[in-house]
Amino acid sequence: MKSSRPRIITIANQKGGVGKTTTAINLATALAAIGERVLIVDLDPQGNASTGVGINRQDRHVSSYDLLTGEADVAESAMPTAVPGMSIIPSTLDLLGIEMEIANAPDRVLRLRNALRRSFDQDGAFTYVLIDCPPSLNLLTLNSMAAADSVLVPLQCEFFALEGLSQLLETVEQIRNSINPDLTIQGIVLTMFDGRNNLANQVVEDVRAHMGEKVYETVIPRNVRVSEAPSYGKPAILYDLKCTGSQAYLQLASEVIRRERRLRAA
Ligand code: ADP
Ligand code: MG
Repeated sequence: MKSSRPRIITIANQKGGVGKTTTAINLATALAAIGERVLIVDLDPQGNASTGVGINRQDRHVSSYDLLTGEADVAESAMPTAVPGMSIIPSTLDLLGIEMEIANAPDRVLRLRNALRRSFDQDGAFTYVLIDCPPSLNLLTLNSMAAADSVLVPLQCEFFALEGLSQLLETVEQIRNSINPDLTIQGIVLTMFDGRNNLANQVVEDVRAHMGEKVYETVIPRNVRVSEAPSYGKPAILYDLKCTGSQAYLQLASEVIRRERRLRAA
């Protein structure tokens, strides 16, 4: 039987500024470019992913907040983007209040999973869902891990790259031991690599030594075109396909797909 359920990948790291949102947007765009139908779920109240794909605040009438409260389903909250085959459920600052609002609900960690499952039981509109997490291991991030098939972790090539990773992996383990036994680590992607910097090279070596095969071969270079793109409301791949950053994200997408095929076959 052909399953219409999409693969759900959450992009998580409790550190801010490590490249979560940039990875969510550009990996999603790269997947859409090779024919996948992709949904981004913006779970960060900052809404950087929404802005980065060109969805203005005043146009976010239905958001991930409504998805979590049950006010809207995926079809009602997903908005098309300028990238063919890529939609986004935008976020608004309403999300800041969600932790307190659902703190005592018995299904507080399962809100996203239930909403996605309800929607995806009905249609095969998407083949991939990428979730952009806030910089915290809060209830929103836990919701994403409960809903996901796998976790993709961006690590910035800097001195403290590995700091905090064990806490993140422990959280994944807790979710696996409780509500989502099938959750896996899709992989760890090194971001903002500057080859002229000896420290960055050392960081890449250290992370590979510690985390082995979990680390993707693709390393995302620091690239000014990548950092400019969001201010035009465009993924870097749309803004400048040829730049080194865009090319790296295309390469990352093929690694992700290869791993997904392996995970699915297992
Ligand atoms: P996070 O979502 O983890 O907070 P972002 O993806 O927003 O991180 O990235 C933090 C900052 O670094 C942003 O200003 C972004 O444009 C910039 N940035 C991310 N990746 C790159 C890159 N490969 N090259 C240059 N700048 C980058
Ligand atoms: Mg972000």
